[in-house]
Amino acid sequence: ITFKELGLAPKILKALDDMGHEKPTPIQARSIPAAMEQRDVLGIAQTGTGKTGAFVLPTLHKLERGRARARMPRCLIICPTRELAAQVAENVEQYGKYLKLEMALLIGGVSFAEQDRKLSKGVDILIATPGRLLDQFERGKILMTGVQTLVVDEADRMLDMGFIPDVEKIFKMTPFTRQVLFFSATMASEIKRLVDQFLHQPVTVQI
Ligand code: AMP
Repeated sequence: ITFKELGLAPKILKALDDMGHEKPTPIQARSIPAAMEQRDVLGIAQTGTGKTGAFVLPTLHKLERGRARARMPRCLIICPTRELAAQVAENVEQYGKYLKLEMALLIGGVSFAEQDRKLSKGVDILIATPGRLLDQFERGKILMTGVQTLVVDEADRMLDMGFIPDVEKIFKMTPFTRQVLFFSATMASEIKRLVDQFLHQPVTVQI
């Protein structure tokens, strides 16, 4: 199967072509169609499988139309570490380079004045670590009512780092109607419990 056959927007196909990504990896080939049908997706895959594209590509496709309002991100991507968040942001920039979408990175070590200026203008995609996101939510800097897609990346590392209670809070803050794309390398019982509680009839993709 090709990216074109998956039905991704032409501007995304052009970016993929520039990057030399010729065809979807197995996790992408199976996650992207489910995500594009607005299903929740549970992806069980390690780093190196192309899992980032598996959630970034359908998310960009969904966001292509529409615009974010001030302080109301349309998509939240939660990552366990700032390094991983920065890597995901790089992927979003590359895959989304022909789309006019605003992205902000909400991680420790980045000046808050800069992050806040972006948030107040409106961001389509907010990529964050759990602590920083909750902190800014509690200060009233972010409104969750516009979130249409919630991505959780590397849930197994969230567990290792003690972030599961924070992730649970984030699930509860976002609208019940949001789509969830949830990725983990393993399915520990604490992660299974989260999935059972918050994902709606997910399509499971295991690589
Ligand atoms: P990830 O598992 O998301 O960390 O991706 C691992 C590596 O595979 C990254 O360097 C990606 O740029 C690359 N990659 C992801 N999807 C594709 C694809 N469809 N074709 C070729 N390379 C890819």
